[in-house]
Amino acid sequence: MHDTATGSVQATAPGHTARMYVCGITPYDATHLGHAATYLAFDLIHRYWRDAGHEVHYVQNVTDVDDPLLARAQRDLDDWLVLGMRETALFREDMESLRILPPRDLIGAVEAIGEIVEVVAKLLASGAAYRVDDPRYPDIYFDHQAAAHFGSESGYDEGTMARLFAERGGDPERPGKRHSLDALLWRMARDSEPSWDSELGPGRPGWHVECCAIALNRLGTGFDVQGGGSDLIFPHHEFSAAHAEALTGEHPIARHYIHTGMIGLNGEKMSKSKGNLVFVSRLRADGVDPMALRLALLSEHYRTDRSWTGGLLDEAVTRLARWRDAVALPAGAPAEDVVSRLRAHLADDLDTPQALAALDDWAGQTLTRRGPDAAASTLVRTAIDALLGIAL
Ligand code: ZN
Repeated sequence: MHDTATGSVQATAPGHTARMYVCGITPYDATHLGHAATYLAFDLIHRYWRDAGHEVHYVQNVTDVDDPLLARAQRDLDDWLVLGMRETALFREDMESLRILPPRDLIGAVEAIGEIVEVVAKLLASGAAYRVDDPRYPDIYFDHQAAAHFGSESGYDEGTMARLFAERGGDPERPGKRHSLDALLWRMARDSEPSWDSELGPGRPGWHVECCAIALNRLGTGFDVQGGGSDLIFPHHEFSAAHAEALTGEHPIARHYIHTGMIGLNGEKMSKSKGNLVFVSRLRADGVDPMALRLALLSEHYRTDRSWTGGLLDEAVTRLARWRDAVALPAGAPAEDVVSRLRAHLADDLDTPQALAALDDWAGQTLTRRGPDAAASTLVRTAIDALLGIAL
């Protein structure tokens, strides 16, 4: 798999139990295709490891208290807790319909408050964290210079870090910080915001420390894969790694950083502000076969920024029908070769376009010449189910 920290393709080489953490959703809106494509890529890793005989300890969080969720609840005069629960339930339904294997632990920030407080208290005690000089709201921040390897996950220069920090939820202008780049760990209670009593004073957690605590407490340090969309490279994954390093003295928190490309719509970036998000639940309600949707998302490489079009879905519907016709025949072209090609392409940084092309070849041969292999249809059907997660 491609590793962001080294910028190269490296073997993941997990032990008997592969350990993977993938950042979850902030449940203020339905699952859009960008989310689906990300969880689908990690689902293929999950499935590949299981096929190779590993146990997989897969952990995912749900950021069920954070600024975007609270803002949406306020806008819609909704209860933030109810909004979060409703969208989390819809997310789980969407994932199930796409046959994405669930994580072993799906942990909400709210249920993890106690463990997050413990982490922040330790960082504060060691001097890696500090309170801003603000008598009204003495919020706690992480001193990014407390981690010797800060910057090694993203590899970004200072200017890029400053720009992305400001663009992606950071607060460089907050007075009283030691450095504009320092990230929030604990936000003291404000009027009309939820807060939890703790030894830090009443407040709520920052986002990066949430993932750090949830990951470390379940997977330990040096786990196999930390993943998410490419917009999480910085600041989110950099800071989760830096918190963990300051806390444990160990580096890195994850041996492999895997990031998925962004999905646009008809050539434009898909975003809330443009109002052009395509939701999985909407497509399901419109009668789209989730297996065709899954196949359409797999037809391009997970790392490329790409555009969603109706044509992509039409192609997937045709391809799926062809594969279903081929496995319905009593005999087919020899299957062992196509199964080993499928495994080899997936092992090559999830090269799904090549994996799908190999299956197209097999289906084409089977449909035109049938073939001698009476076990082929069962074997190919099982391999497509197990490795690609597509039920024919
Ligand atoms: Zn995260």
